[in-house]
Amino acid sequence: MHILLVGAGLSGAVIGRKLAEAGHQITIMESRDHVAGNCHTTRDADTGVMVHVYGPHIFHTDDEEVWNYVNSFETFIPYKNRVKTTSKGQVFSLPINLHTINQFYGKTLRPDEAKAFIEEQADTSIEDPQTFEEQAQRFVGNDLYEAFFKGYTIKQWGVQPSELPASILKRLPVRFNYDDNYFFHQFQGMPENGYTAMVERILDHPQITVHLNTRFSRDQAGDYDHVFYAGPLDGWFDYELGRLGYRTLDFEQFSYDGDYQGCAVMNYGEESVPYTRITEHKHFSPWESHEGSVLYREFSRLAEPEDIPYYPIRQVDEKALLADYVARAEAETGVTFVGRLGTYRYLDMDVTIREALDTAEAYLDKGADIPVFVKAPL
Ligand code: UDP
Repeated sequence: MHILLVGAGLSGAVIGRKLAEAGHQITIMESRDHVAGNCHTTRDADTGVMVHVYGPHIFHTDDEEVWNYVNSFETFIPYKNRVKTTSKGQVFSLPINLHTINQFYGKTLRPDEAKAFIEEQADTSIEDPQTFEEQAQRFVGNDLYEAFFKGYTIKQWGVQPSELPASILKRLPVRFNYDDNYFFHQFQGMPENGYTAMVERILDHPQITVHLNTRFSRDQAGDYDHVFYAGPLDGWFDYELGRLGYRTLDFEQFSYDGDYQGCAVMNYGEESVPYTRITEHKHFSPWESHEGSVLYREFSRLAEPEDIPYYPIRQVDEKALLADYVARAEAETGVTFVGRLGTYRYLDMDVTIREALDTAEAYLDKGADIPVFVKAPL
């Protein structure tokens, strides 16, 4: 079969590779001038530093098959994400852990004492937290919430945390020990030569042809036996019902001769600092050594039509519009919507790869009877 994949990010590359290996002929159209989507990496010409062009991407997973998959295309170097945050004139450790709690309250609590102390701070009247704010107030209390989450979240999402779902905060653990690893996953690492090199290798197969700088239009779909579409769901329908909301990021790049901040990611918890975080890219490759440094100040705002979409907003309005687009999509034939943009979900890289493997499997199993969504957006 001749299969078209729209988008050469992780979804497109992984599905394409698996179907190519099964003997299908794969064409990929990518509108940008590079593969790997938003995990694209490139070496800065002046300093030699590997830059995460669309912001920090740290690979972490509990899925051993996905871990083995990425390691079969690229060497992953063990890497622990240790994030710091600046708030109220001090630097603290994230995610909230015993060090953060003891420093913040000027105490020397042991784990059990800290647990009891935080429980006193927490609003235990909240039984089933629904919003980001309720989740924070229930599990860390108002002081820590205001110092670390409130301002950051208003900057990141452009709305009050009381209007956001609790699921966003559930991404972050609270620990009553000194473990400052940002993620709890078993496997964590950085690709030695960057994500783009990894994706290029996934795509390096005689049955795969990639066209960069190539916009897809829906009338091309008929030329193929099936289309896997990793572009924006509403874009497939020419935004006829309106646009699904996304946050986009602006990066203000600057350089420094030496080590600017001593860590890869420094968050800024307060609303008065206009950016959410500063990324110092060379600290993502601690096995390399570079004199010069490349940094990004990261600003978040509502995406306009011509901006690159990053985070799906998925508030009440977007969910209603999403339901309308999903209903329309389900009436389509010959297409499967995949990935972060195709299903309008906040997806980590490992989940994207897992779903792409499952999607390819579903096609190999069912052929043209594959559903429009292997993973439902709602
Ligand atoms: N967050 C926060 N303060 C921080 C870090 C994160 O309030 O210092 C909140 C914020 O709303 C963010 C969410 O927690 O969107 C998830 O954080 P994560 O670090 O997973 O975000 P990502 O790196 O995916 O942007």
